[in-house]
Amino acid sequence: MNYETVIGLEVHVELKTNSKIFCGCSTEFGSEPNTQVCPVCAGLPGVLPVLNKKAVELAIKAGLITNCTISESSVFDRKNYFYPDLPKAYQISQLYYPLCKDGYIDIKTDKGIKKIRIREIHLEEDAGKLSHDGFGSDTMVDFNRCGVPLIEIVTMPDFSSSQEAYDFLLKLKAMLQFADISDCKMQEGSLRADVNISIKEAGSTVLGTRTEMKNLNSFKAISKAIETESARQTGVIRNNGIVVQETRRWDDEKNTSYPMRGKEEAHDYRYFPEPDLPIIYANDTILQKIMSLVPEMPDKKALRYQKQHMLPEYDAALLTSSKPLSLFFDAAVDKGGDPKTVSNWLMGDYMKLFNASDRDEFFFHFKPEDLAELTNFIADKKITGKIAKEIFAEMFDKGTSPGEVVSNRGISVLSDKDDLAKVVRKILEENPGSVKDLKGGKEKAIGFLIGQIMKETKGMAEPNLAKEMIKKILNKEGE
Ligand code: ADP
Ligand code: MG
Ligand code: ZN
Repeated sequence: MNYETVIGLEVHVELKTNSKIFCGCSTEFGSEPNTQVCPVCAGLPGVLPVLNKKAVELAIKAGLITNCTISESSVFDRKNYFYPDLPKAYQISQLYYPLCKDGYIDIKTDKGIKKIRIREIHLEEDAGKLSHDGFGSDTMVDFNRCGVPLIEIVTMPDFSSSQEAYDFLLKLKAMLQFADISDCKMQEGSLRADVNISIKEAGSTVLGTRTEMKNLNSFKAISKAIETESARQTGVIRNNGIVVQETRRWDDEKNTSYPMRGKEEAHDYRYFPEPDLPIIYANDTILQKIMSLVPEMPDKKALRYQKQHMLPEYDAALLTSSKPLSLFFDAAVDKGGDPKTVSNWLMGDYMKLFNASDRDEFFFHFKPEDLAELTNFIADKKITGKIAKEIFAEMFDKGTSPGEVVSNRGISVLSDKDDLAKVVRKILEENPGSVKDLKGGKEKAIGFLIGQIMKETKGMAEPNLAKEMIKKILNKEGE
C-alpha cells in the first residue's frame, strides 16, 4: 500500500503596528521583560479594550493580497483558557465571523502551479512568553508580548510534502513583508506556524487522523517536523496501529516530537462573542483605500526584473523571495552595479555564506554600494576573480568595504600590463627547464609557469592574461 502525506498550516503573524491591539503599550521586541505592560494587556479587572485601527487595516491588507473575500462585518470572540502567559485568562480572537475568508496563494511545484487554499484569516491578540531555561526549576514570564496584534492564516489541508509547505511559507512571508504587514522575523517569533499532519492512502479522498505541532519558528524546524512526523505516522499505520489525534511537542535539538496533550475542541474553550468590542464593518470605500496601499508584490516585481534588468526567471524569483534581499539588489544596481553581476554575487557567494550562517532571514553587514564597487573592481580588472571572492568573504563577515580590504591587505592590483610582463619575464628566466619543455610542445609546462606567476604576485595576476603573455613573450623570442 502507498501512502500520502496531508498537511495544513495555521500561520501566526505579528502585525507591524507601533502599539498593541487593545491598548497603547509599545510592541517593540527585545525590551526589558514586563516594561511594556498596562492594566489592559495585563488583564486587570474592570479594564476595557479599544481596538487598534491600524491592526484591522493590516489584517484586511493581508486578506486582499491573498485573494480572500473580506467580510462586510466580522466579530470578535472570547476564547477562554487559563495559561501562565495569558493573565486575562481569555484570548480575544475570531471564531465564527473572521475578517477574511476563502483566499488562495499559488505556488510552483514540479507538476506546475498549485493553488493552496486559505480557509480564513482572523485577527487576535498574542499571549506573553514563558522562559524555562536558565533559572533552575523556576519559569519566568514576560508579558510584553501580551496584546501584540496577530493574524492567524489558516490553510486548507492542501499540501502534500514538506517542500510545498516550505515554498508556501517562503512566498507568504515575502508577500507580507513587501506589503508592510509584518517584518516576519522568525527568530523573534513574529512569524510562526502550527503544522497539522495526517497520512492517507494514495489517491484516496478520505483524510486520516491528524496530529498538530505548534509554534514552529524556523523553516528548518517546519521541514524537519513534517518529515519526521509523516514518517512516524506511516510507520504506525504500516504496523496496523492507530494514529491518535493529539498535540505533539517538537524538540528542535533532538529532531523529534513527543505527545504533549490530547487535542482540544472548540467547545473546550467556551467561546462566546466578546461583549466589550464592536462589530467591524468593512465597506468598499475602506477596502479600496487599503487596496491602494498595496505596493508591487513579489511575483510582479520578479516579472519586472526579467524585463528591466534582463535577468533569468530563476534569478528574478530568488531575488524577490525576500524583501530585504530584493531591496539590497535594487540599491546595489542603483549604485552602479551591473544587474546580472550583482545577482550572480548574491545567488552565489552570498547564498553560500548565508546558508552556513544558519539564520532564517537575509542580513547584510556590508552596503549595497560595497557590492557595486566590488563588481566594478573586477570589471576594471583591478582585482582578479579569486581575490574578489576573498574580499567578499571579509565584506560578508565584517562589513568592510572592498576599498578598505584592498588597502588593509596591501593588495595592489596587477592591472598594469607592464608590471605583469616584468613578473612573467622574471619567472621565465628563473625556469629555463619549463620554458624548454613548453617550446618542445609540452603544453603542461605552462600550468607550472602560471602557478609560479600566481605565487610571485600573491594571486593578484589574472591567470588568462598571464598565459597570453607567456605565449607572446616566447613567440617573440622565437622570431
Ligand atoms: P481546529 O478547529 O482543530 O483548529 P481546523 O479544522 O481549524 O481544526 O483545522 C486546522 C488546520 O488543520 C487547518 O490548517 C487544516 O487545513 C488542517 N487539517 C484539518 N484536517 C487535517 C487533516 N486530516 N490532515 C492534515 N491537516 C488537517
Ligand atoms: Mg484552529
Ligand atoms: Zn497595555
